[in-house]
Amino acid sequence: MKNTQVKKVVIAGGGTAGWMAAAAIAKTIGKHLDIVLVESDEIGTVGVGEATIPTLQYFHQLLKINEAEFLKETHGTFKLGINFEHWRNIDEHYLHAFGVTGNDCWAAGFQHFWLKGREKGFAGDFGDYCLEREAAINNKFAQLPNNGLNYAYHMDATRYGQFLRKIAEQQGTKRVEGKIDQVVKDDKTGFIQTLVLTNGEHISGDLFLDCTGQRALLIEEALHTGYEDWSHWLPSDSAIAVQTTSTEAPKAYTRSIAHPFGWQWRIPLQNRVGNGIVYCSKYVSDEDAKSALLGNIEGDKLTEPRVIKFKTGMRRKHWNKNCIAIGLSSGFLEPLESTSIHLIQQTVVRLLRMFPQNGISENDIDEFNEQNRFEWETARDFIILHYKVHNRDDSPFWHHCRQMEIPEKLAHRIQLFKETGRVFRKNNELFDDSWMQVMIGQGLIPESYHPIVDNMSDEELKRFLAHIKSNVSGVVNQLPPHQAFIEQFCPT
Ligand code: FAD
Repeated sequence: MKNTQVKKVVIAGGGTAGWMAAAAIAKTIGKHLDIVLVESDEIGTVGVGEATIPTLQYFHQLLKINEAEFLKETHGTFKLGINFEHWRNIDEHYLHAFGVTGNDCWAAGFQHFWLKGREKGFAGDFGDYCLEREAAINNKFAQLPNNGLNYAYHMDATRYGQFLRKIAEQQGTKRVEGKIDQVVKDDKTGFIQTLVLTNGEHISGDLFLDCTGQRALLIEEALHTGYEDWSHWLPSDSAIAVQTTSTEAPKAYTRSIAHPFGWQWRIPLQNRVGNGIVYCSKYVSDEDAKSALLGNIEGDKLTEPRVIKFKTGMRRKHWNKNCIAIGLSSGFLEPLESTSIHLIQQTVVRLLRMFPQNGISENDIDEFNEQNRFEWETARDFIILHYKVHNRDDSPFWHHCRQMEIPEKLAHRIQLFKETGRVFRKNNELFDDSWMQVMIGQGLIPESYHPIVDNMSDEELKRFLAHIKSNVSGVVNQLPPHQAFIEQFCPT
């Protein structure tokens, strides 16, 4: 399917996806390209998407973004993990931290040593052996040498778009304000040729990036790519978002608070808090979900609560003909583990690596789609894990989630961990220690541990665990409070 060279890239939509794509392409390979981004102020952006994972640092390094400047501009804070409250059971909490827990040995992960210590009654909580978790619950933060403390960010989504827009425009991206009315395709190939705006302006191009959010104007409305529905595994279909004033120094973690019909987020920025609730409309009305959210926020409302509807799943192909869907146009995964911006970043970087400068080939498309699918399905399974494994049976929603069928690969992971305590990372996937932290955090304790642990006497094991724990506490004690670090590094 080779066609002409790609010289002009048209980006439809200027939310987080559109501006991340524009900034990255313009900064890295934009020298010989014509890049145009069309967006509509009248339509606006989704306005949420404020919690990230550590990989965003790599994206910023690629773009040579100054970290302090980025945090100042986006009123950002640091994030060491997510505190899952009432998930394992009502009144039981755990923190999924970004770091690695304990020390592994060549044959067996740290969890095997912890399991025996737990069985013998001298091990603490699994998280006691993780530096990021301990720093988070003590609200301490600093940047340690050699990525000694893994972190991500909380940021203002709207400001992030503006921040990236500046970079993209400085690198030559042309922004067009206007509403896309029609997508014109070539009769023979079905490739997209031109976007026609409501003001009559025509924008033609060689490669089109659909960043139009849930509208999916190019990939779906024009190309009819199809959508794979995953709502039988992730039944939530609604969210309500509201911003409030801060009432305390920002925590260095996101809060995820389970409700009888879903969960609520709290994302602390330097100057305000982003709040929201994700729920399944089969189990609660929008009005009752709104009351539950407003009944559990602190500070004064800065915005009116806004309902957002979604269907969990992914577009059958992210790259179809000469169109690549990025962001909400490519699918939706609820923000439980803050994976969406990461998936945007992965798609953008993949496009940079596989940029079709000499024309679009079906082989490129297949490879690209296969890699994207793997990432989406892995993130999906990790999110499903939280709903499947827990001890809550207090509401029809949680009861349904416990009983539901789950993807085969996930069922295998859970069963393997349950029987043997083993977890393996596949294809360099995103989550590593996280699988263990969340399985244990959600209440799944393996039935056995690796025999190599028995090479240690009980006394040796006790000393080994105590040593890791005291090293962790020693480092945490030296760290400044999160707020103090922000005030010195990136005040607004
Ligand atoms: P949008 O922000 O919707 O942007 C679409 C763009 O297309 C806009 O510029 C719009 O003007 C333009 N457009 C649309 N139609 C037209 C038209 N006809 N003509 C011209 N322009 C048009 N992700 C995370 O990583 N972390 C989180 O914590 C997180 N929280 C979330 C919470 C909720 C409730 C939701 C719904 C999502 C969350 N996400 C999160 C996902 C994240 O918000 C999105 O992945 C991210 O904002 C990208 O959105 P987008 O750019 O694809 O779409």
